[in-house]
Amino acid sequence: MRLLVVEDEPTLRGQLVQALQGAGHTVEQAGDGREAHYLGEVEDFDAVVLDLGLPQIDGLSVLRRWRAAGRGMPVLVLTARGSWQEKVEGMDAGADDYLAKPFHMQELLARLRALLRRSTEHASSEWRCGSIWLDTRAARVLVDGQPLVLTSHEFKLLSLLMQRKGQVLSRTELSEHIYPQDEDRDSNTIEVFVARLRKKLPEGSIETVRGLGYRLVEPAAGGA
Ligand code: CA
Repeated sequence: MRLLVVEDEPTLRGQLVQALQGAGHTVEQAGDGREAHYLGEVEDFDAVVLDLGLPQIDGLSVLRRWRAAGRGMPVLVLTARGSWQEKVEGMDAGADDYLAKPFHMQELLARLRALLRRSTEHASSEWRCGSIWLDTRAARVLVDGQPLVLTSHEFKLLSLLMQRKGQVLSRTELSEHIYPQDEDRDSNTIEVFVARLRKKLPEGSIETVRGLGYRLVEPAAGGA
């Protein structure tokens, strides 16, 4: 995914860029409101992390201008600690989520994943990977045109793998997707679900990337 990080504090901006790149994203950055506004208006981003306290043009104004110009990308705003006014103003200005400073990078990554998931689900309900076709709204999967019977966990797993085809997903990401409400989730059970799903899909569809996770690919012709 292509993301924009807007933060005037260089150390924090560097940490954000590094963490997001580490999560596999392409990251552009801006250190003031003017540059941020320009980038968000002329370039396409899958999501934006926007600090509200910025030089030149403040973050709220930047966000309002984007929305007024019809720019609808998901925006996560960073607010000052304990400032509920900023949260309210941010949401009113068109933010999709907010996080108060200081925050844990893991929480920021999790919230961004949720935002990206919601926006990709909104944008499309159908995915295709080789001979596999999945419709999230109808909860239906076809392989070579034939219906495939999956359990709800297998379906959720396959949905996420298809949405992010070609990207490596960790067991943690997959289990967060399958059990969003459950804090006692066990990422080991993901191995079991992946093994079951793998048996139902064309051979070679789910690759194991050692130490990192799994990725959905179009199997090479002839199967491998
Ligand atoms: Ca700031």
